[in-house]
Amino acid sequence: MRFSLSAYVLALVLAGGAVAHAGDIVEPRLRIAEGDAAGPQVALTLDACSGQTDRRILAMLVENRIPATIFITGRWTKHNAEALAIMKAHPDLFELENHGLNHVPAIDSQPTMYGIRTAGSPQAIRAEVEGGVESLRSAAGVTPRWYRDATARYSLGAVGQIEKMGYKIAGYSLNADQGATLLAPMVEKRIANARDGDVIIAHINQPTRSAGEGVVKGILALKAKGMRFVRLDDVQSSQTLDPVPVQKPAKTRHVATAVQPQSRTRY
Ligand SMILES: [Zn+2]
Repeated sequence: MRFSLSAYVLALVLAGGAVAHAGDIVEPRLRIAEGDAAGPQVALTLDACSGQTDRRILAMLVENRIPATIFITGRWTKHNAEALAIMKAHPDLFELENHGLNHVPAIDSQPTMYGIRTAGSPQAIRAEVEGGVESLRSAAGVTPRWYRDATARYSLGAVGQIEKMGYKIAGYSLNADQGATLLAPMVEKRIANARDGDVIIAHINQPTRSAGEGVVKGILALKAKGMRFVRLDDVQSSQTLDPVPVQKPAKTRHVATAVQPQSRTRY
């Protein structure tokens, strides 16, 4: 598996023009193979981080027989037995995968990401991944093959670590709901504009927010256009690791500007 990490490091060097380090933060971009003569296809992935279940989305998927890959945390599992039973009752529709035990970012090089406390160490990352696996096995009777951490951002070293444990990292290519914070019309528009090979990410754990309504409408719009839906394990996929720029302290930026006065010129 060492090859895998080396390949990522090389990709980062080529993409960013700078040497990558294990502590660098990356955002995996995942795409699936484009559809064949049968038509375009996308993978719908839905995160169940914690909290409750958006029944609008779950009911729409079952009624319209739309397959999806659901990323579940141990925390969500504890309080959503009924929704989990519905997912388990439709193994032809729902692929259940690992979103961690307690919704902790697999980052050990900075203390928080989007305000969420990160794992902080390789040991904690391992515990989060393995805890999620155990939770899925005991609650749903499935062994996950994919892992998506909280925030979908990782330390570069964590990517290699999790792959060594035998799991594929699940990035995405189309952020539909920005953590369920967008309003329905925007979410609908984003999903309805999905293209062949996209991996869509949205949330199924925020029933009181507007975003879920947009997920329902957007998916139905895609279906009406003839888009086919597949699950991550059903297709070939390819992934790149996009570097997440480090936020430099303001002082450093000021110095950089001072030595390049020509950059102030406006054209
Ligand atoms: Zn999440």
